[in-house]
Amino acid sequence: TRSEITYFGAGPAALPTDVLEKAAQALIDYQGTGLGIAEHSHRSELATNIINEAKADLASYLDIPTDQYEVVFMQAGGTGEFSATVYNLVGAWVVRQHAAIVKELGEGAGESAIVEALRKKVESDLKLDYIVTGGWSLKAYQEAQRLLGPEYVNLAADARTLSDDKKFGKIPEESSWNLSKDAAFVYYCDNETVDGVEFPAFPEILRPDANGNGPIVVADMSSNILSRRVPVENFSVLFFGAQKNLGCTGVTVAVVKKSFLAPSVTQPSPALMRKLGLPIPPIVLQWEIIAKNNSLYNTLSIFDVYIAGQVLKKLLATYPDKVDGQQAVAEKKAKLIYDALEAHPEAYRIVPDKSVRSRMNICFRVIKNGTVDESEKAFLKEATAQGLTGLKGHRSVGGIRASNYNSIPLEGAEKLAKFIDSFATA
Ligand code: PMP
Repeated sequence: TRSEITYFGAGPAALPTDVLEKAAQALIDYQGTGLGIAEHSHRSELATNIINEAKADLASYLDIPTDQYEVVFMQAGGTGEFSATVYNLVGAWVVRQHAAIVKELGEGAGESAIVEALRKKVESDLKLDYIVTGGWSLKAYQEAQRLLGPEYVNLAADARTLSDDKKFGKIPEESSWNLSKDAAFVYYCDNETVDGVEFPAFPEILRPDANGNGPIVVADMSSNILSRRVPVENFSVLFFGAQKNLGCTGVTVAVVKKSFLAPSVTQPSPALMRKLGLPIPPIVLQWEIIAKNNSLYNTLSIFDVYIAGQVLKKLLATYPDKVDGQQAVAEKKAKLIYDALEAHPEAYRIVPDKSVRSRMNICFRVIKNGTVDESEKAFLKEATAQGLTGLKGHRSVGGIRASNYNSIPLEGAEKLAKFIDSFATA
């Protein structure tokens, strides 16, 4: 039964039972309206209230400065945001270059001269920088190449070059990053869910100067959002799917700096992008359109936003010091599990380098006896028998992965740590 297991799956992740019980009731009859939450119109006042409350609670929990940042609920998952990042920020880059060229050529310059100059600029200067530290940043990098053409996409750092077997598990030294001058953006994944690699802190090399000027930084925080304080003002965009630390599958949050949205920046016209040979965003991936419509350009799953909102309310009620409180718990739980693994080097090998170990996705191999394969099978079988489930590693890398998201209670982490110890000594 539900009360007998602790689920360590990587996403979708477990949700708090009391949130689900309340949501189950809301699905049948929301606030005595006789209609369930998934049946009410997304244009209704109650839907708008659910969206606005979830946005405000998220901003409060993470201290997002809402005068400078917009929170939007997107569809199409984290994967959709890989594409959205390229479309929207290449568009914003074109807008900047267009303004510079008009200034340079003078107001009287003809349209065709401007387009010609822009075309040259695209060819010579358009660059997207990717820091690849695991499977998800690799996918985002590949999507950029697919949408735009590989010539525009710069692999600024590749963690695979640091190991003999070309596997992930480290973060390249920042001094080795080959960043482009005035890149359309620099992209990284804050926590690599498959490989168990997490940035210990915001990269120094990307930090804005005292005047707030610096590179345009985008981060994927799908698997570690709400688990530690985020220096939001260092980012132009951060995004995360809901299905790990926030809620259930179906909504993806993008936190976008307002200076990249209308009225500061309006995406270039499709006609201009066509002339430049650059892709035109599908309208549902255009942040500006979704922001302008308070996330309701088209039908959004209000139920998914409601779940995320209830999780946020629970977090806010649990931690008076908001995300700092959750951060302390996340670190404590991760330490319990890593300490148990480190106590038995004869039985376990932790996959990523110690300096970049994820607090959220704890990846390790079981090397106790027999083949790794047999040891891991035995580990998973015994763990499951004890109610510790969802521990199998991602199919692309194998091994064991304990996903230690916010909904795993301290007792769940303690139980796993105890099992790790007893399996090694049995
Ligand atoms: N980024 C990260 C870090 C992820 O862990 C995942 C999914 N596990 C994704 C992106 C892709 O998300 P989605 O499946 O919602 O497209």
